[in-house]
Amino acid sequence: MPLVFRSILFLLLTNAIFVVNAAQLTDSSALQNMEKELYQHPWKSYQTLLTQTKDLENMSPHYQLWWLLRKAQAENLLYFFDKFEHTVDQAQQHVNRKTPIRITVKLNIFQGLIFQRQGRYQQSQATLKKAKQLARDHQLTYLAVQAKQELAYTRSLTEVYELSLIELQQAYVAAFALNDDFLIAKINEVYGAIYGYMHDYGKSIEYYQKALWSYRQLQYPAHEVEAIYGLASTYRYWKKYKLAIEYYQRYEQAIEFSPNNINGKFYAAYGIAMSEAEQGNCTKALVSIEYAINLAGLNDYKAELYKRQAQCFITKKSLTKASNSLAKASDIFAAMPELTGTHWQIEMVRIRAELAQANGQGNQAYQLLKQFNQEETKLLKKNSSDRLLRVRSAMEVDRQNVEISLLQQRGKVQELLFEQQKQKNTMQAYIIGFVVILACLILLFVYFQWRHNKKLLLLSIRDALSDSFNRRYVFNYLNKLINTNTVAENTVSIMVIDIDNFKQVNDLYGHTFGDKIIREIAKVGSDTIRNEDVIGRVGGEEFLCVLPGIDAVQCLHIAQRFVNKVNAREFLVGDEFDNVQRVKVTVSIGLSTTTEHIKTSSMLYLQADKALYYAKYSGKNRAMQYQDSMQDSYQPEAAFGQDHSSLSDEY
Ligand code: GH3
Ligand code: MG
Ligand code: MG
Repeated sequence: MPLVFRSILFLLLTNAIFVVNAAQLTDSSALQNMEKELYQHPWKSYQTLLTQTKDLENMSPHYQLWWLLRKAQAENLLYFFDKFEHTVDQAQQHVNRKTPIRITVKLNIFQGLIFQRQGRYQQSQATLKKAKQLARDHQLTYLAVQAKQELAYTRSLTEVYELSLIELQQAYVAAFALNDDFLIAKINEVYGAIYGYMHDYGKSIEYYQKALWSYRQLQYPAHEVEAIYGLASTYRYWKKYKLAIEYYQRYEQAIEFSPNNINGKFYAAYGIAMSEAEQGNCTKALVSIEYAINLAGLNDYKAELYKRQAQCFITKKSLTKASNSLAKASDIFAAMPELTGTHWQIEMVRIRAELAQANGQGNQAYQLLKQFNQEETKLLKKNSSDRLLRVRSAMEVDRQNVEISLLQQRGKVQELLFEQQKQKNTMQAYIIGFVVILACLILLFVYFQWRHNKKLLLLSIRDALSDSFNRRYVFNYLNKLINTNTVAENTVSIMVIDIDNFKQVNDLYGHTFGDKIIREIAKVGSDTIRNEDVIGRVGGEEFLCVLPGIDAVQCLHIAQRFVNKVNAREFLVGDEFDNVQRVKVTVSIGLSTTTEHIKTSSMLYLQADKALYYAKYSGKNRAMQYQDSMQDSYQPEAAFGQDHSSLSDEY
């Protein structure tokens, strides 16, 4: 590459770096991006931040706020708790409506930590909850998880372990989703603390070790120190004092990352002193306790030191000193109402009992011990019942979730069922419609069939010309009457009617007129008889009339009426152009009525026919009843032969 190009490139690069540096001074991006650096080198970062103090007034409010935030963070990591409190306070005063939510949330988390260290657990929880909610509302997941993790830890300090664990579990899931090793390590550290408080020491150590390993990978010294301290404390609770003291000493060395750290020194001294006291090594412990108490440190920790001091003094029979130590511890508890009812506070009663015993106040010692036992039991019960309650409510939530999903499923099933029902209904409607249409068609078919059959029947029994019954029907009717009724019981009369001189009528007025006469005579016949009587044309111009239940006398009357009616009638022939002629027609009627001698219909018919013959022979236009005397008289063979054979056919 030619030298000139190299020079230009060099200039460009240096200028670019210069621009970045200038930007770092005017905007807060460098501050915003310094978190990792801060965690890895808190002391160095803190020194860098401090160098900017004199220029701060010239910076934008936004920049100042970020600066204060990072400074506070560094102070916290370096165990400069008083400075930390002060800086957070300062930052809070800069907060206004324009402050980015990230800063507000972080400051709230810091404020929560401050309250927690002061033993103001309720305020700590409220502030952390606020931070968590705010972060969540603005999709700042990382900060929401951090707030949640701190909240869980604070909860565990007031012995609400179950709830802390649930909260922590949720935070863990969220941190895992974010794939953030630091957050996961922090959560593991809190798990370690909570399991320690819950006396599950094996698990506690396990989690602290996990956290410690992660912090080492990340090279975050402040956090490593915290994990080491946690391990030391758990070993102490586990009564593994040798290991505990070893870890407290490691802690003392590790805290050196923050030079001249008073708080760190106090924690190390506290741990060692407590371990020695609990181990029963009071000679050593009293020295360590004295040393720790004189270091600046947290008050609730000091209360613990006073308690152990009192116990050691009791062992050493320095009862006044013991009483003084107890009084100091008592003052601290009185100043921290949140600790009332916790194991730490209740333990005071037991130590008082020990003191009373040592003082020879056996009764008082007994009463105090009883009180201690009662309070301790109450605490255990509360924890277990609360736990039960929490487990129950957790189960309740699960159950509700299951119920909701079941309801949703049920809703879906119902929808499907509804849909199915709808389809079924439509199907049913179709089927019903189809059946109705089919039924209608069948009915229609049956009706037409019936009408057709009726027509056929009528056709089969009617005589088309005269509109009376036909020969077959009338003879069938007669046959049935004669054969089903015993003649003695039911009389049947018949009339055989023949139009007189009909050949002549046909010849004179034409065949058509003859047909008309046949029709009208039939009409006169049906008008003369009852409904149950039957009249039918049995030959050319000859009718047979069957009259059930009519005896010979009645029959003669009817026949006479028939003859008279025909006589009274005039038949008109011709049309409007021709001259209309009035034609007279007469009929002759032969009658016969059943007797015990009559066995068949043909016998009865033969008799009536014979009577007809006699009527014709006697001058026509009359009705004549069969008489036995007519039996042997002349009869034209042909007529009877034909009729007789027809009758026989019907049987
Ligand atoms: P009688 O007084 O002795 O009965 O004399 P008649 O002329 O009526 O003699 P008969 O009863 O023997 O003759 C019947 C005649 O009726 C024969 C035929 O010309 C006529 N005839 C038969 N059937 C029909 C018919 O359907 N229509 C018409 N117009 N005439 C018929
Ligand atoms: Mg005739
Ligand atoms: Mg005739």
